[in-house]
Amino acid sequence: MSVAIIGAGVGGLTAALSLHAAGRDDILLLEAAREIRDVGVGINLPPHAVRELSELGLGGVLEKAGVPTKELAYYDPSGQLIWAEPRGLDAGYKWPQYSIHRGTLQRLLVEAVRERLGPSSIRIGQRVTGVSTGDDGSAVIAAIDQTADRPVSHTADVAIAADGIRSPARDSLYGSVTPLASNGWVMYRGVTKAAPFLSGRSMVIIGDETQRVVVYPIADGVLNWLLVRPKDTTRAEAELGNWNVPVSTSAIAEFVKDYRFDWLDVHHLVASSSESYEYPMADIDPLPRWVFGRCALLGDAAHAMYPFGSNGASQAILDARVLAYELATAATVDDALRGYETQRRPVASQVQLANRRQAGDVMARVSALARSGAHGDAATELQDVERRYKQLAGFDVEALNTRTSWSVSAASR
Ligand SMILES: Cc1cc2nc3c(=O)[nH]c(=O)nc-3n(C[C@H](O)[C@H](O)[C@H](O)COP(=O)(O)OP(=O)(O)OC[C@H]3O[C@@H](n4cnc5c(N)ncnc54)[C@H](O)[C@@H]3O)c2cc1C
Repeated sequence: MSVAIIGAGVGGLTAALSLHAAGRDDILLLEAAREIRDVGVGINLPPHAVRELSELGLGGVLEKAGVPTKELAYYDPSGQLIWAEPRGLDAGYKWPQYSIHRGTLQRLLVEAVRERLGPSSIRIGQRVTGVSTGDDGSAVIAAIDQTADRPVSHTADVAIAADGIRSPARDSLYGSVTPLASNGWVMYRGVTKAAPFLSGRSMVIIGDETQRVVVYPIADGVLNWLLVRPKDTTRAEAELGNWNVPVSTSAIAEFVKDYRFDWLDVHHLVASSSESYEYPMADIDPLPRWVFGRCALLGDAAHAMYPFGSNGASQAILDARVLAYELATAATVDDALRGYETQRRPVASQVQLANRRQAGDVMARVSALARSGAHGDAATELQDVERRYKQLAGFDVEALNTRTSWSVSAASR
């Protein structure tokens, strides 16, 4: 069975590795970019994602490249602790939680794909314009070969559309452009060379419903920071979903001029950032359908979500593992694609909606409690929200530690 994967992002690359581990080797990745570069800033991989990558044999490289998160702590805007909980191995998971540069993660996945599937398994410069089902039932992928500037077409038994939030493949399958939704907030992100703070492996969220800052280390001496707040001016819709809009750091530092605590000077951290970007936050409504004939949506193409809760990449990784498992074990390809959608779409849709609530209601309730001095009640509220979120996103500690693996043994293929 041949599989064409559209997009060599975290989702597409993990799908390639998962299919290969499940016994497939006729896999081609089509990537629009002319070169694959280490772009983005920090990304957090909770234990459910780390479990899947570890079962793909990447535990060792992740351990070398990432920082194992020890705790997650929430602070009010005055720097007073509201609530903290252990994370990863410290929370009793069998797998760590890692903070890592997104570009590094993508590079590790690219290297593993090229090593295992061959150097030509990723074809760059292939901008896919649409996917359809051919007369013989196979998937037909139309693309522009940007290296030669000419239209090309690829066929495969199965196509996996992992081409991100603006997925042209998804739009062609639906027959219309899926609108991006926005809550009107913007996320500023950056990395700064800085000394460790708190435990040296802490992830902190500081602020209230008007703005909040998240800081965590992604390598020795490198802190990743992000600031989320309502946008100041009306932005063109075209910028929604674009992760790479550079922005001047001085204006952003002004927003956090009062965030100077004895355990972390956030103002200094932001002001000394080596690179900063603006991400006008966007997601899509949960989709009614992920599978069209022999074409399946995966990752952001299927369920782009607000980047709260560290689950955009994680859910893409879970999609990849389940899809590969189903394709290796179901009686027919159609059963496999149906099984994939049945398992994954309800979960990812719930996470999309939960991330919308985290962006709004949750912080408003917690901040109101903290402002009235009820830090204990605010802590209980946060604890409750985190517990429910872990259950629905697939990283409740007990459930994850005891869940059957999606690795496919040679005997069960
Ligand atoms: C440049 C970039 C920077 C990011 N930075 C961060 C970050 O700092 N922090 C964070 O938490 N998340 C970041 N994300 C998002 C995060 O990586 C994704 O939410 C998550 O990993 C889901 O992955 P995905 O593979 O579904 O989609 P993506 O990671 O978006 O990957 C999609 C891939 O498809 C390719 N593609 C797009 N259109 C086409 C086409 N027409 N034909 C062929 N290929 C196509 C893209 O070039 C990309 O390689 C970033 C995403 C991108 C693209």
